[in-house]
Amino acid sequence: MRVHSEKLAIGFALLCHGVEKGRKPIFIFKNLRVCGDCHEFIKGLSKVLRKVFLVRDANRFHKFENGTCSCGDYW
Ligand SMILES: [Zn+2]
Ligand SMILES: [Zn+2]
Repeated sequence: MRVHSEKLAIGFALLCHGVEKGRKPIFIFKNLRVCGDCHEFIKGLSKVLRKVFLVRDANRFHKFENGTCSCGDYW
């Protein structure tokens, strides 16, 4: 099974900061381009958890909010 480092990073971020605490965005930094699977996953999380996820990947910056991403799915 392939491990997605983005998902792991988010899991750790949520564990550290707590899902309920505050409205601070969660930052994730990644050396490689975020994959489509994780992109969808983070979009879903942003809606379900009502949190903002900021992801910096190799190509650009993504701001996930309420089920959508600032890149408009083109990245
Ligand atoms: Zn992935
Ligand atoms: Zn994006």
